[in-house]
Amino acid sequence: MTALAAPSLFLAPGRRGRAADDPIFALNAEAVARKAKGEKVINATLGALLDDTGALAVLPTAARVVREVPSGEWAAYAPIAGTPAFLAAAIADTFPTRPALRESAIAVATPGGTGALRHAMAAFLEPGQRLLTTSFYWGPYATLADETERGIDTFPMFDAAGAFDLGGLDLALARHVAEQGRALLILNDPCHNPTGYSMSAADWAGVADVVQRHAARAPVAVVLDGAYCAYGPAGNLERPVAALAGLTDRALLLVAWTASKTFTHYGLRVGALIAVAPDKAQRADIQAALTFACRGTWSNCNRGGLFAVTRLLSDPALALQVGAERAELVRLLAGRVDAFNTHARQARLSYPSYDGGFFVTVLTPQAASAGAALRKQGVFVVPVDGGLRLGICAVPVLQVPELVSALARAL
Ligand code: PLP
Repeated sequence: MTALAAPSLFLAPGRRGRAADDPIFALNAEAVARKAKGEKVINATLGALLDDTGALAVLPTAARVVREVPSGEWAAYAPIAGTPAFLAAAIADTFPTRPALRESAIAVATPGGTGALRHAMAAFLEPGQRLLTTSFYWGPYATLADETERGIDTFPMFDAAGAFDLGGLDLALARHVAEQGRALLILNDPCHNPTGYSMSAADWAGVADVVQRHAARAPVAVVLDGAYCAYGPAGNLERPVAALAGLTDRALLLVAWTASKTFTHYGLRVGALIAVAPDKAQRADIQAALTFACRGTWSNCNRGGLFAVTRLLSDPALALQVGAERAELVRLLAGRVDAFNTHARQARLSYPSYDGGFFVTVLTPQAASAGAALRKQGVFVVPVDGGLRLGICAVPVLQVPELVSALARAL
C-alpha cells in the first residue's frame, strides 16, 4: 500500500493523497507472487469463485452467449439508460413472482452493482449527507460515498446475542431522518459480504417494520444490494422482496442488480439500478434523474454485454441451461461452506451463521495482527474492522481444514 510522499498541487486538495491500490487486490497480488515463487499459499482474499483447481469458475453457457454477440452489438452505443430489453429482463429477474412490482419498476443499466450503488448515493442523498449500512460492510461503499461527496454511517450489524440488530437500525434511522431529513439504507443480502450472514424472514420483517415507521416522517430509500443472491440459501431475492413489497407506497425500494456473480462474468460490467415507484409521475422523475446520471458519468454501458445478459435472462432454453450450470457452482461452494462449518465449530471459531455465499468473517478484535501473522505463514485473509474475512469462494475444499487450523492457531 503505497504512501504518497509528495502530493500533487495539480490535484484539487480534496483529491490528494488517495490510496490507489485497493487493499484486497494488493494482498491478492502478494499471494499470487509468493505462490509463483514456489511457496505454499492459501489465498482467501479475492471475491471471485474459483474451482477446486484454482481456475476461475465460468458458466460455459454464459461464456458461449458472450462469444456469440454480433460485432455490431459490441460496436454500437447503447441507449443512455440501457437497452429496453435488458431493463425489462433485469426487472423480471428481480421480481419473477410479483407483477405489481414489475409494473411499478423502472431501471437504468450500470457498470455492475458498483455503478448502481454509485447512482443510488448520488440521486437519493445530497452532497455531505451519509448513507446508512451495517457495521460490517463491503469497503467500496465508503469509496463510492467519498467519491460522490457523500459519507457513510453504520449501525451495529449484530447485537450482544449475535442476532441482527434491529434496535440499532431503528436508532440509526431515527438519527438520519432527524439530522438529514432523508435516509438511504443499503443492505447487502443474502450472503452478506463480508460476514456471510443471510438475513432470515424475521430479520427482514423487522427491517420492514422499522423502515415503515421512519418513512412516515421523511423520504427513506432502501437499496437491496443483491450481488450474491444467486448463491443464497433462500433462492434469489424472494425473502427481502417479500418483506419490502408492502412498503413501496411509503418508502422507495431500490435494487442494485448485477450479472457479475450470477453469470460469473465479473469483467463484463453489466448491472442495473432498479427503482420501484407506484406513482407514475414520480417514477418518470426518478427515471429521468437516473438517466441524466448515466449521461453525466459513464454515458452508456457496453451494448454487447447488455445483449448477452438479456439473452441469458430471457431465452427460456438458455436460462434453463445456465441455471443448471450455476446449480453445480452452488454445490461446489456448499461443499466448502459445509467443510468450513464442520471444522470452524470444532475449533470454536466465532463467526455469524453461514449457510452459503462467497465469504465468511471470523470475529476477532485482533484482526490486523492476526491477519499479519497469517500472511507471514502464507495464509492470506482480509482483515476488516472486527474480524478476518475469508473468501471461501477462492479456497479449494481440501484447503478449508488447513485454513481453519491456521486461523485457530492465530486467534
Ligand atoms: N456489492 C457487494 C457487497 C459486492 O461484494 C460487490 C462485488 O464484489 C458488488 C456489490 C458489486 O460488484 P459488481 O460491480 O461487479 O457488480
